[in-house]
Parts: sequence; structure tokens; C-alpha cells
Amino acid sequence: MLKVYNTMSRRKEEFKPLKEGEVSIYCCGVTPYNHPHIGNARPFVTWDVIRRYFAQKGYTVHYIQNFTDVDDKIINTANKEGLQWSDISGRYIKAYFEAMDALNVKRADVYPRVSETIPDIIAMVQQLIDNGYAYAVDNGDVFYSVEKFAGYGKLSGRKLEDMQAGARIEVDTRKQHPMDFALWKSAKPGEPSWDSPWGKGRPGWHIECSTMSLKYLGKKFDFHGGGSDLIFPHHENEIAQSQACLGDEHSFAQYWLHNGFITIHNEKMSKSKNNFFTVKDILKEYPGEVVRFFILQTHYRSPLDFSDERLKEAQVSLGRLQQSKAFMDELRKKEGSSDTAKDLAAKAAQYRQDFYEAMDDDFNTALAISQLFGLSKDINIYYQEVMNKGVDYDAAGFARVSEIYLEMASIIGIFEQEEAAVDDGLTDKLMELIIGIRQDARKEKNWAIADKIRDELKEVGIVIEDTPNGARWKKA
Ligand SMILES: [Zn+2]
Repeated sequence: MLKVYNTMSRRKEEFKPLKEGEVSIYCCGVTPYNHPHIGNARPFVTWDVIRRYFAQKGYTVHYIQNFTDVDDKIINTANKEGLQWSDISGRYIKAYFEAMDALNVKRADVYPRVSETIPDIIAMVQQLIDNGYAYAVDNGDVFYSVEKFAGYGKLSGRKLEDMQAGARIEVDTRKQHPMDFALWKSAKPGEPSWDSPWGKGRPGWHIECSTMSLKYLGKKFDFHGGGSDLIFPHHENEIAQSQACLGDEHSFAQYWLHNGFITIHNEKMSKSKNNFFTVKDILKEYPGEVVRFFILQTHYRSPLDFSDERLKEAQVSLGRLQQSKAFMDELRKKEGSSDTAKDLAAKAAQYRQDFYEAMDDDFNTALAISQLFGLSKDINIYYQEVMNKGVDYDAAGFARVSEIYLEMASIIGIFEQEEAAVDDGLTDKLMELIIGIRQDARKEKNWAIADKIRDELKEVGIVIEDTPNGARWKKA
């Protein structure tokens, strides 16, 4: 049984899909005005694993993620650079895809953009006015009336009275309630705008996600996700808009999943604090798979502290898993019909079961990954037995082991990049072997072989030094 932590109910619930065998997901995307930072990347890596998991379990996955391609930040950046807003959003949508491709994040089914959804957004705003939940003011702004929606605050657990008390700063007198928010903003000079029943303007932020999710996933869909900073006001407002528009308090997303923050020295990372790292910069130092693995070694709801040390640790850990994969590939080239992998296959089946149990418990990737490590160790032991201890190989039994190992890895989304291969000591072991052979040759006064080994190593950039304590090697 798959359980998920639903922010709406504040507890783990059994997941029941709306449609048997299908799962529909909407995840809030980025505002493309800058390179995505590691905190932006976390929800997308998280949802990528979730959708891979559902797909592995046989579900058909529908996954929608938007681009807020019309926004103050994009317009400001465009003005600073003397470019069009669409130049900026186009540039950073491209940068977004480059970063996500490097993290093995699969593409969504649709990436709706605000600029391409304007007629649908206008229709939804009009519906909200018609239903009595929204009002237009003199200059053409349209606001949502939070007092009209009885359930306002149900996702974030806030009460309107408390929010009103907190809202002291210059209350807009055109608003009926200080927490009312803009559905449509009237055009300002130099800004992109579209014709509407209320004059030229552009959508407020929250309305796009209501419009897009309902348009592509229907009145009810399974999951809505994003960073926990989106719970209020963004997701609260999405609920208010969508359910008021449809006139059904059970419509819209059934499960709300929110990932934790990424912190730097335990402080929240954000563009406003200027303590953020872009994925692009991190990728200069680490392969994308290492960054992905680093993110997934922590449960998605827990805070994740980012540091160079933690990334290095992730690189070494991933290297271990890759090493076993290399051993596995080598073994699988062999033939053998013993039954020596029978016990290992039984253990692998247990690791697989534990992996699925971890994932079924609110997508606990941290615990799931530990099953991969368990199997990795056992694969290494079997490899040594077959290669060095004369144990007969069991091709059929080991094929099942390798299948399970790769199945778990494909859900986590690793072993998909060749360049991510990390050495993890293999060079050391090979060099030890070669130096040993050369020592043997020297003992037998076979100088021709000893010199040949030294000279040919030199050609590939490795220098052997003979010292009183034996031979040493280093890269030239
Ligand atoms: Zn959104």
C-alpha cells in the first residue's frame, strides 16, 4: 500500500488514484528570469523519481509543469538588458532544460506557458466574477474576494482573522479585504499586455496554475506539488480559485505534496538572500548524476543542507554503486551454469521488496537507496568469489540479481550518464596489480619485461619510481 503525506490533511494517507492505473500530477514550474538554483531543482528531481516509481509500478503518468513566462522579474530583467520579456524567458527556459537534462529529469507531457494560456485564464477570471468570487475595480484590476470562499486557509492552516491582523502594511483601499489578491492586473506602460473584458492587462501569478492544471488534467487530479514555500499564498490561492470556479470543494488536487527547503549552513537558500548556487555552476564541479543523487539521499520533506563536503560524499557513495555496476557488467560477460548465485538472488529479492516498501512510505528515497547499497556490497562479494576464489559462475541466478539492481537504479535515476563514472579506487587496484607483476619480473631478472612495463606506463602518463620501500607510481 502506497502512503503519501498530504499537506491538506497533515498526515500520511493511502494513495487511491482517481482513475485506476493512472496518475495525474501538476507541479509548479519556474519563473524563467535566471539560471535555476539547486533549491529550484529539488522539487523537479523529487517529482521525477515519483513519476518513475509510478511508471515502474505500471501506472500511466500524466505530468504537467508550467513556465511563468510573464512576470515582474522577467520584465525587470528585460528592461535592464534592453530586450523583450520573451527574449529573457526564452533564454532561461532553455537554461532550465539544460540543467534538468543534466540531472536526468525526464520531460513533462506539457509545459504550458502563461503567454500561451491567456484566453483560458481570462475565461476563468470571468467565471469567478460571474460566480461572485471576484470583482473588477476602476482601473481594470480584478481581485479575488477571499471572504467569499469559506475554505480559505484550509491548506496552510491559517485563519482569515489572523491574517487580517497581520496585514498592516498599506492596505490597498480598492480591495474589499487586505488578503484579496490580483487575478488580473491592468497594463502599465512598457509592459506586455493582452486585451480582456476589463481592458488591457496581464494575469496575476496564482491564476495560471489553476487554469493550466484544470485545462490539462481535468476538474479532479491526483497530485499537486511544489516547494513548501508555495503552500501560502500560492497553493492556498489556487485552491480558492479552482474550487470557487467549479463550485465543488472536492475538486482540484486530491493530494498536496511539498518538498523541504535546501539550506546553506542551515539557513534557507534564496535568491533574495543571495546565498544560492545555480545548477549550472555546480555542474562545473560535479557530474549531474552526483547532484541528483545528493538530493535523493535525503527524504524530500526533510531540509537538505547543501555543502561541498556533502556533494563530495555523494560522489564517493555513487561511485561505490557504479563500481558494483561495473563488476556486474564484467560478470555478465561470463558463462556458467552453477547455482552459486541462488542465495544472492534471494537476498536481491528481499532488497527489492524493502526498496518498494521504502518508496511506498511517502517516497522515502533515502531508505530506498540504502537497499541499493546493501545489494551493491553483496554483488562485490560474489564478484570476488567468482573472479578470485574459483567459485563457479551462475549466469541464470546472477541475471536476476543484475535485473533487480538495475531496476532499483532506474527508479532513482542513476547509471544513465557515462561521464558520471567515478574511479573509486579501481586505478589504485589495477596499478597495484601491474607493479606486482613488474616486481616479479625483476626478481626473475627479466629486465626486458620490467622495463617494458615501466616504459609503456610512461606512455599513458604514469611514472614508476623504484624506492627502497618498493615501487611507487604517480600520474605524470
Ligand atoms: Zn503554481
